[in-house]
Amino acid sequence: MARQSGERIAGLVLDCLQRAGRPLKAYEMLATLRPHGVNAAMTVYRALDRLQAVGMVHRVESLNAFIAVPFVPGVAERAEKTLGVAICDRCGAVEPFWDTGLTRAMAHEVNDFDVRSLSLELHGFCEDCRPAAEPPKPDLRQQRKR
Ligand SMILES: [Zn+2]
Repeated sequence: MARQSGERIAGLVLDCLQRAGRPLKAYEMLATLRPHGVNAAMTVYRALDRLQAVGMVHRVESLNAFIAVPFVPGVAERAEKTLGVAICDRCGAVEPFWDTGLTRAMAHEVNDFDVRSLSLELHGFCEDCRPAAEPPKPDLRQQRKR
């Protein structure tokens, strides 16, 4: 009975994250899930733990929020990949990406350290939010107009 309820709530939490399409904090999920009979933050955290353990939810450390993992790779693949996120500090957009090379290079760099987890979070501006005065690359067309 308790397990069934736990699975049901995990399903609701995952659905909530997938629908949002942006990182959510536990209390934001709680507000959405209250009509479904979820009344305690602890219940949401327990569901999040369960979903993280199976790789379906990812915690964005620097935002203290959670996203649904866009694509869950197989066990062998997962061992070689790290889910990273690019976070726009202006509009809050979060773009997940799978990294292989960088993570592996870092693991080689840190000798005698058994890496169990790694958080890869990039902060900056998305394409829509880049300050116009600071283009990422020199734009010759704009210079010619002046
Ligand atoms: Zn943005």
